[in-house]
Amino acid sequence: MGKPGTTEQPLRVAIIGAGPTGYYAADPLLRQEGVVVEVDLYDRLPTPYGLVRLGVAPDHQKIKSVTAAFDKVAAHPRFRFFGGVEFGKDVTLADLRAHYHQIVYCTGAQTDRRMGVPGEDLQGSHPATEFVAWYNGHPDYRDSQFDLSVERVAVVGVGNVAVDVARILCRSADELAKTDIADYALQALRASRIKEVYLLGRRGPAQAAFTNPEIRELGELADADIAVVPAEVELDPASRASVEKNPDRATMKKVEILQGYALRKPSGKSRRLVVRFLVSPVELLGDASGRVVGMRLTQNELYATPTGALQPRATDRFEELAVGLVFRSVGYRGVPLPGVPFNEKWGVILNEKGRVLDPDTKQPVVGEYTAGWIKRGPSGVIGTNKPDAAETVECMLEDLAQGAVRAPAQPAAAAAEALVRQRRPGYVSYADWRQLNELEVARGRALGRPRLKFTRVEEMLGALGR
Ligand code: NAP
Repeated sequence: MGKPGTTEQPLRVAIIGAGPTGYYAADPLLRQEGVVVEVDLYDRLPTPYGLVRLGVAPDHQKIKSVTAAFDKVAAHPRFRFFGGVEFGKDVTLADLRAHYHQIVYCTGAQTDRRMGVPGEDLQGSHPATEFVAWYNGHPDYRDSQFDLSVERVAVVGVGNVAVDVARILCRSADELAKTDIADYALQALRASRIKEVYLLGRRGPAQAAFTNPEIRELGELADADIAVVPAEVELDPASRASVEKNPDRATMKKVEILQGYALRKPSGKSRRLVVRFLVSPVELLGDASGRVVGMRLTQNELYATPTGALQPRATDRFEELAVGLVFRSVGYRGVPLPGVPFNEKWGVILNEKGRVLDPDTKQPVVGEYTAGWIKRGPSGVIGTNKPDAAETVECMLEDLAQGAVRAPAQPAAAAAEALVRQRRPGYVSYADWRQLNELEVARGRALGRPRLKFTRVEEMLGALGR
């Protein structure tokens, strides 16, 4: 038999994970001229879009319009969606190897990094990722509980996820009611008694990971005043030298925005959002029942490493911050997939340019690839995954041209579908998803909201008449 990639014998590709990267990998594969590719996109959830549905903040609706481009990819006649089918459980690596020439893992980064300080697991200390999944209606997290009856909250980290969490906590119920936030989260946040939210950065304003539109948005909240400690947004000598050496407009603008906040006076809004810099939690403090009641912070100073990067170093100055709720937002982390080589240190699949590598020989595992956060780590915006997936697809096509593809025993599209039907009779197809989507939008419209999400898998299947 000749090389796959013809009408008679299409190249059969399984993509695991229907987030942005899954679509960004499918798209160039389906557009190839001269190579006929069939794509089956698997997701363990019945719904597609990954982080665009379950990570992007509900008050950032515009960003979600990228799903129109995903739906275009999905409309291709050689594309299929197998929703609600979990890799490693419903279908195994051996199953996929028997049915596909190539497999691409695009499962993102599904868990959180840890801070590594005592008290991290006290009640009331949560990973930000869990809160994000909760307010976005992720079926696995919809029953999580957060005590919003406390007055003060700390969010550790100053990346865009930390900003999302702080902003959602500070939004008024009216602002949230215009979004597609999960209905139970809207109710809980409506009853929130939170008065003060602290964002805690371990380095200075010039090193803050958040981007300028995001920090600007925090200064425009309807019912929360923003505050910074003036001394903390003055550049220290090391940062000043670094900015002068590499003048970067975005960084200078960021510092300027923050220094502007330092001049603001409270305007009488009901909540206060305080952005702190050069502080690190060294311990979370609990009461007798194991609930978090505060944190001990050390003040940091910056020093230059040999590469010139500025890193925080603890001083002997400490302070305590009384808080009843803590969100740790110090980065996401990838989760290993059963049977797929993993780099534990980096939390990514072991790979080179997207080719999965055998851990012993460091040679590519024929027919297996990866893209997105599980390939390179949790950085960048949604669009960053497009060139990342394109690099992987280039490797896939190069390998195909060299004849380095798997020879599956059952390469027919019908065989893969039969397998899925047998393992997961209630799987969700793209047509099913489109139907769910319309139902959600209609339910939302009735309430003047962009959509009202289904947040339980049974609810979704019920709506489809299963
Ligand atoms: P991130 O941008 O990498 O930020 C992580 C933050 O955690 C940094 O401030 C980091 O400080 C801090 N941190 C790490 N370890 C820490 C420790 N032990 N103690 C205290 N602080 C610590 O990650 P992210 O916020 O999770 O976001 C992930 C990616 O998604 C980013 O690329 C982000 O821009 C993107 N995203 C974008 C949007 C948007 O465009 N609106 C929204 C959400 C997410 P250091 O810098 O000192 O390491």
